[in-house]
Amino acid sequence: MSSLAERLRLARIPATQPITKLIEAQAIAHTLSKPSKMPGFGYSLPAAACNVGSRLRPIEGSVCNKCYALKGRYVFDKTQHAMTLRLFAINHPRWVEAMVFQINYMRRRKPGADHFRWHDSGDIQSLQHLANICQVAEQTPEIKHWMPTREIKLLNLYTGNIPKNLTIRVSAPMVGDYLQSTPFPQASVGVTEAPSVFQCGAYTKDRGGKCGDCRACWDPNVTHINYPLH
Ligand code: SF4
Repeated sequence: MSSLAERLRLARIPATQPITKLIEAQAIAHTLSKPSKMPGFGYSLPAAACNVGSRLRPIEGSVCNKCYALKGRYVFDKTQHAMTLRLFAINHPRWVEAMVFQINYMRRRKPGADHFRWHDSGDIQSLQHLANICQVAEQTPEIKHWMPTREIKLLNLYTGNIPKNLTIRVSAPMVGDYLQSTPFPQASVGVTEAPSVFQCGAYTKDRGGKCGDCRACWDPNVTHINYPLH
């Protein structure tokens, strides 16, 4: 990545000039993240900026109480810095264009980059943010997008189109619990029994915390995925 001054200069690319270089897209949207578990790339934001998550965090037994994105490598200065830059970047008027450029750029170069994971840390910040994510998905039809969220109220307020290649999975707020009724596919933590539940196998002995060949999270037909406590 170039110096901050260079990035700021590039981020002022005139609106009439298309983005043609990765460095220009990164100057606007910052870099993509690379979740270690997943096959492709992602876009992580600071967990401290989660709206619903911040309210759940003090609650014992909530899925955010022991949030994985507030420890380990997520709290390294470099990671925090990158996530903070992304949080500012989502308001840039050319963010959608910059994201589309980067996602397509990676798809052409990296195996697994046809599956994109939104927010391995962080969550939707506003209706406009959600609309822009939908725009990114719509403009990258070759990519399968998956976004978990606890912002269920925001999602219910959203009246725009959700493209078919974007699977939004709503997350149950409490460990061991799941949503009895939702129009969206859902995710839970620590549920052992529920109708049609698919248990994530990433943490079984032979998988070492990796998705491997599994792409269930991106599949809207898998209506309930549970992540076992590990
Ligand atoms: S269910 Fe499959 S795709 Fe989802 S996190 Fe687990 S291993 Fe990865």
